[in-house]
Amino acid sequence: MSDAATASRTTESATASRKTESAPEADALKRFLDGEHHEIREHVRAIIAEPDFAPVSGMERDEYRDLIMEWTRRMAEDGHPKLLFPEEHGGGGNIGAAVTGFETLGHADLSLLVKCGVQFGLFGGAVLHLGNESHHREYLAAIMSAELPGCFAMTETGHGSDVQRLRTTAVYDADAAEFVIDTPDEDARKDYIGNAARHGRMAVVFAQLEVDGEEHGVHALLVPLRDEDGNVLPGVTIEDDGDKIGLNGVDNGRIAFEDVRVPRTALLDRYGTVTEDGKYESPIENKNRRFFTMIGTLIQGRVSVSGAGLSATKSALTIAIRYGLRRKQFGPPDSDREVPLLDYLVHQRRLMPPLAKTYALHFAQRKLVAQLHEAFSADEDQEDRDRRKLEAFAAGVKSTSTWHATATIQTCREACGGAGYLAENRFSSLKADTDVFTTFEGDNTVLLQLVAKGILTDYKTRIGDLGRLDLVRFYGEQAYETVVERTLARQLLTRVVDAVTPNGGDDGDDDRDIDDRDFEHELFCWREEHLLSGVARRLKSGVDDGRDQFEVFNDCQDHVLLAARAHVDRQILEAFAEAVDECEDDSIKPLLDALFRVYALHNIEEDRGWFFEHGRMTGPRAKSITARVNRLCKELRDHADVLVDAFGIPDGALAAPIGLRNASS
Ligand SMILES: Cc1cc2nc3c(=O)[nH]c(=O)nc-3n(C[C@H](O)[C@H](O)[C@H](O)COP(=O)(O)OP(=O)(O)OC[C@H]3O[C@@H](n4cnc5c(N)ncnc54)[C@H](O)[C@@H]3O)c2cc1C
Repeated sequence: MSDAATASRTTESATASRKTESAPEADALKRFLDGEHHEIREHVRAIIAEPDFAPVSGMERDEYRDLIMEWTRRMAEDGHPKLLFPEEHGGGGNIGAAVTGFETLGHADLSLLVKCGVQFGLFGGAVLHLGNESHHREYLAAIMSAELPGCFAMTETGHGSDVQRLRTTAVYDADAAEFVIDTPDEDARKDYIGNAARHGRMAVVFAQLEVDGEEHGVHALLVPLRDEDGNVLPGVTIEDDGDKIGLNGVDNGRIAFEDVRVPRTALLDRYGTVTEDGKYESPIENKNRRFFTMIGTLIQGRVSVSGAGLSATKSALTIAIRYGLRRKQFGPPDSDREVPLLDYLVHQRRLMPPLAKTYALHFAQRKLVAQLHEAFSADEDQEDRDRRKLEAFAAGVKSTSTWHATATIQTCREACGGAGYLAENRFSSLKADTDVFTTFEGDNTVLLQLVAKGILTDYKTRIGDLGRLDLVRFYGEQAYETVVERTLARQLLTRVVDAVTPNGGDDGDDDRDIDDRDFEHELFCWREEHLLSGVARRLKSGVDDGRDQFEVFNDCQDHVLLAARAHVDRQILEAFAEAVDECEDDSIKPLLDALFRVYALHNIEEDRGWFFEHGRMTGPRAKSITARVNRLCKELRDHADVLVDAFGIPDGALAAPIGLRNASS
């Protein structure tokens, strides 16, 4: 797709050709985006296209919650949630397909998505990954069929992100061979728990385990909440969390326990058990390591929320882009011609970069799901290092994808003007329902710190592995960069080069073709490496000065988060580049390539202040990047309908009158 070819197309002819030419490209692109899990995506698309599952608006709360419970049962009847569970227990044994099916459900009513996520992913996932064979035999079938609605009760009012400090207790009573579950005070009650306020009959409760006076850290236990008629059991108190910003089809609630007794076998004991003679045993001796191994097995929830956020973003972009192609405002003076919104550069600028980033994240998510699938399909437990890498990748993609959802849905709402504000056009529910995706399954800011800790540990290992000579060279390069950055000479040089070279020239970078993927990749890597080494230096000098480690880390926290973001951006860029390379279909490869460039260059453009500050970009180069992004956005505009059609969102699920494929203008 060349600029010249694009420029020669008039708006009218482009509009006409879109109607006839776009379908095969959109189909090819959809097939490519769907990848190996095409079948499950199509399966879920067919379900959510049914009028019965049309997104809900303005329904009374309890009625909405009951409808969502009913829909969850129908999902169970359909059977696709079973993919998450092993074949020997009647499941489908395909975690990759399960997570992808869940992602596709993210185009439908998001309360249904979250209710299914709680029932199958969180409740079922905890029993599967933390329980033993007898728990699987006893509970998985009823969980898969949704006959046993359950909760995942981890968060407490007083502790959310810091799960290790939960305060609910599970004390073993050896005489009775039972655990006694207690909520010591209000701060320790379970809070925001999905399925708790109305439907849940059992909960996986995370509590501090105490056996024979010794504390063993956080463990999970199965605790019944209600009987079959829905009556809350003795010792359990449940309160409704009430109305929320969104997701009001999910019954979130608070749970407190007073002297609730469960048998010894209620402990989900894959990583720590209490024997019949009352002894605590664990295959992982170190308490900390045991805790993180347990939590790590629950990572599929985080990966699922990331994919669901992306689906909601695709819905918003589909609505806004289709509307932008049809809706006309203003036009050339002295002419009757009115211009579609998407012909305006500013409108293209608002929607094309988020669209490109959505594609980038789609491929990063696909890579993440493939890694998750591989890790959980292996027979053995993962090595600590591999597990940590997967967790960090999931944390990075989830935080980026859900923040991207929040920002993009707002942009799309505004891009549709007043029509975007009408509830029937979905933005109100998309905004409200996805808002909390940045918080649950790990608060994004906290997750980025997890990413940072991972890369800092790797960095330390990398430096530790360097030989003496390499080390001297390494510190030499760092010192050189720092000096260059700080000297006025550098700034002077930049100004001189800017003045004499029309296309820039600093660093040799300005001679590079900005469409060269290696150049873009180098800039992403350079930013990451620079931020990382800077943080490492600050942390090291703080600790060397004898300061408290917690304080030192806290003083660098903003820097730490920048390094983590740069790392994740580079990972996303690489996943996108790999996908473009994989594509062998010439009818869509140029489109993917253009999207890739918009993603890469827009990211650099957004951070040009930083690159400038660090002497890696000149004024002319920054301007040429902006001009290039403008041209690329214009190119993509003519393919915008194909690019959103390829998401394959059924009209029935999209539901917004202004966003339907054949909506009138
Ligand atoms: C609708 C909804 C459904 C939920 N469903 C469930 C469920 O089914 N089961 C369940 O167990 N939980 C559930 N949760 C709880 C959710 O997982 C927690 O809200 C989440 O983990 C964050 O914890 P918190 O609310 O205590 O926030 P906090 O951890 O208190 O965070 C508050 C703020 O402080 C910041 N912050 C925290 N620590 C740091 C730090 N070290 N450095 C810098 N900033 C920091 C965070 O970024 C955040 O902005 C749900 C929550 C909601 C809203």
